[in-house]
Amino acid sequence: MTKNDIAIQFVKGVGPNLGKLLMKKKVYTVSDFLYMFPRTYEDRRNLPKISELSGGETESFIGKIKSIQDQRTRQNKTVTKAVVSDSSGTIICIWFNQLYLSKYLKIGIPYLFKAKCERTSYEPMITAQIIEHEPATDFRKEIVPVYPLSAGLYQSTLRKVARKVIEYVLKVKDPVPSSILKGLELLSISDSLVNMHFPTSLDLYERARKRIVFDEFFYFQLSLSLNRNQYKKRNGEPLKISGSILDSYIEKLPYSLTGDQKKSVEDIQKDVNGPNKMNRLLQGDVGSGKTDVAIVALLMAIESNRKGVLLAPTDILAEQHFLKISKRLESMEIPVYLLRGKTRKKERKVIEAALIGEEPLILIGTHAVIQDPIKMTKLGMAIIDEQHRFGVMQRMALSKKDEFCHCLYMTATPIPRSLLLSCFGDLDKSIISEMPPGRVPSKTYFLRESKLEQVYKFCLNQIEKGRQVFVVYPLVEDSEKLDLKSATEGFEQLSALFSMAKVGLIHGKMKQLEKSEIMQNFKKNDIQILVSTTVIEVGIDVPNSTIMIIRHAERFGLSQLHQLRGRIGRGGNESHCFLIAEPTSENANLRIKAMLDTNDGFKLAEVDMKIRGPGDILGTRQSGLPEFKVASLINDEHLLKTAKEAVSSIFKDDPKLQKPENVFLRESLNQKYHLILSNLS
Ligand code: ADP
Ligand code: MG
Repeated sequence: MTKNDIAIQFVKGVGPNLGKLLMKKKVYTVSDFLYMFPRTYEDRRNLPKISELSGGETESFIGKIKSIQDQRTRQNKTVTKAVVSDSSGTIICIWFNQLYLSKYLKIGIPYLFKAKCERTSYEPMITAQIIEHEPATDFRKEIVPVYPLSAGLYQSTLRKVARKVIEYVLKVKDPVPSSILKGLELLSISDSLVNMHFPTSLDLYERARKRIVFDEFFYFQLSLSLNRNQYKKRNGEPLKISGSILDSYIEKLPYSLTGDQKKSVEDIQKDVNGPNKMNRLLQGDVGSGKTDVAIVALLMAIESNRKGVLLAPTDILAEQHFLKISKRLESMEIPVYLLRGKTRKKERKVIEAALIGEEPLILIGTHAVIQDPIKMTKLGMAIIDEQHRFGVMQRMALSKKDEFCHCLYMTATPIPRSLLLSCFGDLDKSIISEMPPGRVPSKTYFLRESKLEQVYKFCLNQIEKGRQVFVVYPLVEDSEKLDLKSATEGFEQLSALFSMAKVGLIHGKMKQLEKSEIMQNFKKNDIQILVSTTVIEVGIDVPNSTIMIIRHAERFGLSQLHQLRGRIGRGGNESHCFLIAEPTSENANLRIKAMLDTNDGFKLAEVDMKIRGPGDILGTRQSGLPEFKVASLINDEHLLKTAKEAVSSIFKDDPKLQKPENVFLRESLNQKYHLILSNLS
């Protein structure tokens, strides 16, 4: 609990029992409750009279019960029926299976009913199936909050607590300097909190929300500015590139770089030649050839007699990069090392010694490289692949290994501009939007489980043509066992079914050695069908595979589906992606539809953002971004800018927040909700 906050159970009318229920909702204190914003609102200012009820939708009205009785249906269920009226007319109210209701509801006093009403052709002309009811003896014409409910908690109880809780906030001092609030015409924090729960008008609700959104952005920007200046342009050490190594490497490639790849290489070269440390994001859809740009960037460090590091989010991907890069650089006598958490002690010692040595080298690694207190000298280039899988902290840790080191972040996830500015500071951006030539967009199909046999027939045909197949099973949350079971079963089934082909199984629980052996066999086409859990999701490159079968596709996220589909269609052969699914939710249907509609990762990201909201896209937890409770990075982008400007204006005069007018702000930063209740009086 933050300083001077008040435990929720001590709020008048709450007590230990209700307190416990609230704590289950993670509401421990008055502030927790204040920041548990309503899911939606109910406008009770102009309720219709009974005669005005339209029928066909959920409506609320007030009426007195004239008579009430329980009846048993033939199926042995109970129906409670009541005749309810107001000055305008009469209605029949119906409840199902609430046996004691007739004894408990009182005749002659007003109730507020929320109901699904229906017009009838007989008297009374309307009936209502009751969803909620509550006594309306002290009814107020107002907008009331609708909170997210949980077991044992009623809407009316929560509203009662809310009325008590907002009393605490009325005299809180606002931490945001009044000059800023006035300039931006923002509501005070106490008025905002009150109006978030009980808005006195729609206009006031909008203004309250605006203040809360502003606060979310404002405090986020404030802590960024206070804690970091690493996003400011910093001195770098220019790399001296004569071009000989780069040129001979690019010449020897089996293909020529695409225009966008060349442009990205030029961008990077310009950066590393300049006086500032490079801080560049390389964004390109799955399969657009980011790895090739990365290799060239690593070679820039080598040319300049420095070291280059490439980090990948998974062991398999690091190994794949390692194999590809060592092969490519074989004839150039550049040492390439692979360092992972599992690297043996003896080998690790050799690598560690090389890392503090003078010789240029390339290191491919996983998180292990940044987590361990490994020392590196003369680091010229650090690259993070699939950067959204790394956290802000990890990115920072990497650039601390050598503060002059140039950094390149690679991602297939399009990051909205607003986020780029606010969370990644002055990150520059190169985009690869063109695919290497010869790509045939994969055809995508959505089929039910019952059609699997047809899909397998199709596979057989492709395997006879020398092609390879991926079959992917989802990761069932919290149940790796179950997940493994279905993949293992699938493996056994397919092994029996495809006697002429070799079927392989790969999953996260396997030993690293085993995993890489299987991957290698698949690459060599010693395995034709690879059954796997989601371990193959990122970056695996086997151009001869032309079929991707995704089982239980309804359980995958859109970006995952797109990543998986990106594994095929790389070798110039027509490729096919089968989404085998039994979608039950609307979102699952939307995801599958989007996959059928487009192959464009950027369009899919947009759809994904609409379905899930932007925080989730970047995997907030992984990317180290805060979860905004109310703010939307898309719809509230203008406020993000406003908040950023407000923070800059404060920092211009008082970078450490020491001036008297800012001391309170500084103090509130340390509080969970940036709210201090100590000024109650
Ligand atoms: P991603 O951007 O998803 O990391 P990769 O770097 O894995 O993509 O590249 C995908 C495939 O395209 C690889 O097999 C790679 O060898 C191939 N590739 C990359 N650049 C070109 C190019 N310019 N011409 C032809 N093939 C290319
Ligand atoms: Mg890649």
